[in-house]
Amino acid sequence: MITDLRSDTFTKPTTEMLQAMFSAAVGDDVFGEDPTINRLEAMTADMFGMEAAVFCPSGTMTNQVGIKVHTQPGDEVICEKLSHVYIYEGGGIAFNSGCQVKTIEGAEGRITADQVLEAINPSDIHKARTSLVSLENTANRGGGSCYKIADLQLIKEVCLQNNLKLHLDGARLWNALIAKKETPKQHGEIFDSISICLSKGLGAPVGSLLLGKKEYIKKARRVRKVFGGGMRQAGYLGAAGIYALENNIERLVQDHQHADLIKAALIKKEFVGKIMSVETNIVIFEVLPPYNPKSFADELAKFSILSMPISATQVRMVTHLDITPAMIKNLITVIEAL
Ligand SMILES: *Cc1c(COP(=O)(O)O)cnc(C)c1O
Repeated sequence: MITDLRSDTFTKPTTEMLQAMFSAAVGDDVFGEDPTINRLEAMTADMFGMEAAVFCPSGTMTNQVGIKVHTQPGDEVICEKLSHVYIYEGGGIAFNSGCQVKTIEGAEGRITADQVLEAINPSDIHKARTSLVSLENTANRGGGSCYKIADLQLIKEVCLQNNLKLHLDGARLWNALIAKKETPKQHGEIFDSISICLSKGLGAPVGSLLLGKKEYIKKARRVRKVFGGGMRQAGYLGAAGIYALENNIERLVQDHQHADLIKAALIKKEFVGKIMSVETNIVIFEVLPPYNPKSFADELAKFSILSMPISATQVRMVTHLDITPAMIKNLITVIEAL
């Protein structure tokens, strides 16, 4: 049995989820006639208190469609320097939206309202027009750290005062909501658009949703089509998403507890340097001699435990639905013996 801590994208659908998929009612979603997708979109928009939602095959697509609809070519997008939209989407902001990016160095992936204010270009023909701020919650490369609602509200104020749109890459927003005991509606009130993933901690095989106002989502549907993301009987995938929303949110608490246990084991080891604060299901830590990230991951792999080197100095472990308490216990025994 492999303990796969490389990412929470490795989860596989359970028998119950597959059953829900098999029995889905479907239609042609490009014609708006897939009842399961319509239900999933209405259900998520409702959860967040937002007007509408559109289903996409990936979180990269919901982010990219979201950014495209908010911007014009030549605009500038503000985001944290290690944010997914900037470093892990293949240069998509430039490729798809013709925009440039101004990065901010945040604290564990989070940026502040003051930093945003400082990054906005003045209205000057020499400068790119700043039109969008994109935040990430939880912040993946920030070790799964979460924003405080009050800090998000301050950023929203700055955006309102400067006529900027505010997008949230909420691939792991569910983890933040559970960790901070917040509701989706609290976030729906703040952002102009939110991207959420069903295929990370929630365990669905495929699927993300982009949420926003009715007019915005109408434009997003057109862009999704242009990007090749209009799918036909998508309800088979949507059914997995509905199952995930109904069954797999509360249990994220367990993933967070598992991440805490991993941190507690690592902290005692001399070959472990700085560990980022563990607020959710991600543990990012520095590996020191005699190991380096690769040799450490190779050592764990000998025990069928997979982890991911993410930089020259750091390894990432992500807990999820398919990681059992027994696997965590075994991992801790292995770490203790190194
Ligand atoms: C995984 C992830 C996404 C979307 O990834 P896809 O693999 O395209 O679904 C977006 N943002 C963050 C922070 C992620 O971790």
